[in-house]
Amino acid sequence: MLDAGIHPAYQGMASLPFYDDFDLSTVDVLLISHFHLDHAASLPYVMQKTNFNGRVFMTHPTKAIYRWLLRDFVRVTSIGVNSPLDREENLYTNEDLVESFDKIETVDYHSTIDVNGIKFTAFHAGHVLGAAMFQIEIAGMRVLFTGDYSREKDRHLNSAEVPPLSSNILIVESTFGTATHEPRLNREKKLTQMIHHTVSHGGRVLMPVFALGRAQELMLILDEYWAQHAEELGDGQVPIYYASNLARKCMSVFQTYVNMMNDDIRKKFRDSQTNPFIFKNISYLKNLEEFQDLGPSVMLASPGMLQSGLSRDLLERWCPDEKNLVLITGYSIEGTMAKYLMLEPDTIPSVNNPEVTVARRCNIEEISFAAHVDFQENLEFIQKINATNIILVHGESNPMGRLKSAILSNFNALKGTENEVHVFNPRNCVDVDLEFKGVKIAK
Ligand SMILES: [Zn+2]
Repeated sequence: MLDAGIHPAYQGMASLPFYDDFDLSTVDVLLISHFHLDHAASLPYVMQKTNFNGRVFMTHPTKAIYRWLLRDFVRVTSIGVNSPLDREENLYTNEDLVESFDKIETVDYHSTIDVNGIKFTAFHAGHVLGAAMFQIEIAGMRVLFTGDYSREKDRHLNSAEVPPLSSNILIVESTFGTATHEPRLNREKKLTQMIHHTVSHGGRVLMPVFALGRAQELMLILDEYWAQHAEELGDGQVPIYYASNLARKCMSVFQTYVNMMNDDIRKKFRDSQTNPFIFKNISYLKNLEEFQDLGPSVMLASPGMLQSGLSRDLLERWCPDEKNLVLITGYSIEGTMAKYLMLEPDTIPSVNNPEVTVARRCNIEEISFAAHVDFQENLEFIQKINATNIILVHGESNPMGRLKSAILSNFNALKGTENEVHVFNPRNCVDVDLEFKGVKIAK
C-alpha cells in the first residue's frame, strides 16, 4: 500500500480514501512517501480503526514531523465538534495517534529493506524535508512510486534522483499536467518585488502556507531579501511573522535535520556556524491574540488552503482592503477557499457564519513554490526511468489526461515494438492489470 492521505476539501469519513473497497488485512507493507496531509493524514485511522495489521515505514524526518502535524490536525478537526453525533465524525483521537506513532518503523535513504520477499528502497524526492520515492521489488519485478517530487534545484532540499536500477512500472504524480513553470530565479524575484511593493504602499501581505515544508523555503528567501534591504525593511520596520501552532516545534525539526539537506545549505551551516533555520527577520506567532496588527507586515500563516484557522481569520480581516495582498504559493485543491479566491470573487463567505459575506477587494496573486515537477521536468524524469508501464496518479482529470496524451505522443516511435510504452490514468477503485512473463514466485 502506497500512502494513506485524506482529501483536504472534505471532512470526517468523507475525506478518506475508499478503504471499504479493499481488504486492508491483506496489506503486508504500507509505505508513506511524505508528511503532507493528502499522503499521511489517514494513517492513524488505518492503523487503529481498521483490520490492517501490516508494517508501516517512513523516513526519519517524515516521522518526526508527522507526530506534530497530525496532533494539530486532530485539534483542528475536533474544533466545533460538540454533539456526540458529530464527534463520531472525528477520524481518530490523540491517543490513536500516539499509539500509531510507536508502531511506525523508519528507513534511511538508499538502504534496502526486505519484508517477506518484498524489497524496497527510499530515494530522495525533493518536494519537502523527508520526502521519498520508493522503489519496490517483488520477484524480480520493480515498481517506482514517486510520491510528490521535484527536480528543480532548491535552497535546502536534494532534488529527486534516478534510482540506479531500472523499473518495470512507474507510478508518477501528474499535479501540473502539461504546464510549464517559470524559472525559479524569476519566480523568486517576482515574489520579493510583489511583497516589497505591497508593504511599501502600506499594505499587508498574507501568504497562506502549509505549516511545514514549503513554508521554510519561503522563509529562507524572505529572510535573505530582508537582510539585503535592511535599511527599508529591517529592524522590525516591516515585520515578517510565521503564524502556526506548530511554528516552534517545526523549526526545531528543521534545525535538527540540516544533515539531510543539500550541499548548499549544509555548507552555509558549516561556514557560518549558525543554523540557517534560525531566522533574523522572522518572528513566530502562536495565535492572533499576541499579534499587534499595526501597519504593514508579511504573514505566513497556516493552513495553506485557507479552509479554517489562522490563515482564514486573517483573510477575512484583511481582504476588504484593496492595499492588501493574498499571495498563494502552494498547490490549491479543488473545493478549498484558496482555489475559490483565484476566481477573484467580490465577496467570500465567513467561516464562522456562512450567511455573513465579507467584501473582497484585496489583490490575489499566485506564484507557485509548490515543488512539484512541471511538464518538461516530469517528461525528462519519465524518460530516464524508462519504464514500459506508466501509471498516472495525483492530478485532476483534465491535466492528467493532457499529460497522458503528451507522454504517448512522445513515445510514439516505440509503438508496436516490444518497448511500447503504456500509459494509464485510472480513476479511483479501477484496477490496472499488467502481465509479466518469467516471473518467479514470491514467498
Ligand atoms: Zn506533497
